[in-house]
Amino acid sequence: MLPWEHFILGLFPMIQLWNVYDPIFAMVFVAANVLIDVDHYLLVLYISKFKIWDLKRSYNFFLLKQDELYHIDAIFIFHTIEFLIIIFLIYWFTKYIYVLAVLFGLIYHILWDYLEVIYFKIKHKKYKFKQISIVWFLLKKYYFKKRQSTTK
Ligand SMILES: [Zn+2]
Repeated sequence: MLPWEHFILGLFPMIQLWNVYDPIFAMVFVAANVLIDVDHYLLVLYISKFKIWDLKRSYNFFLLKQDELYHIDAIFIFHTIEFLIIIFLIYWFTKYIYVLAVLFGLIYHILWDYLEVIYFKIKHKKYKFKQISIVWFLLKKYYFKKRQSTTK
């Protein structure tokens, strides 16, 4: 799902939060909901060996390579359970209410990402879920692969 689509989807809860709760909370929520996708930019930076810094080029590169990037070797670090846990712990220890707004924004975004994948899986059977866990990703990448190659 593209950042502007997330922005549009984020507007509905934002308006609610704005009216019912707190405008700043609402704005932080929607900002987190969109800015989480910065990890796509980081991934393009990494994959291009730090050659593509330009935001627009990076965006086009991503759209072009999307299918490959969803391969197992790609991880979107802000879309992982570990990142959510870190944000949650920051909230837990600081009790700073806007950190909770960030957490809600991230979860709201990830939910839509998953709904999109489920929808496309049913329709085209080719979409892949993002890696949900950094630890699991690294285990698969290093530990299990090594074991496989030593048992061969
Ligand atoms: Zn996303």
